[in-house]
Amino acid sequence: MDNKVLIDRRLCKGCGICVVLCPKKILTIDEEGKASVTERQECIGCRQCEFHCPDFAILMGDEDGQI
Ligand code: SF4
Ligand code: SF4
Repeated sequence: MDNKVLIDRRLCKGCGICVVLCPKKILTIDEEGKASVTERQECIGCRQCEFHCPDFAILMGDEDGQI
């Protein structure tokens, strides 16, 4: 299955757009100022976060976190 969110922390600038857009509310900005997934298994793969990230820091991977 190819529908679980992955975040490239090297690219994320912590703008928070993905946090606001996620319909499942499973994204947050962590203590390092980077987007982080709280409940990855809850991701429905809608790709709103991926489509709107200005820094292309979000990808979709499989259940095991592989791209
Ligand atoms: S939209 Fe992209 S750059 Fe902004 S917080 Fe989310 S992952 Fe990081
Ligand atoms: S793909 Fe959709 S449900 Fe999954 S983290 Fe992104 S916005 Fe949230």
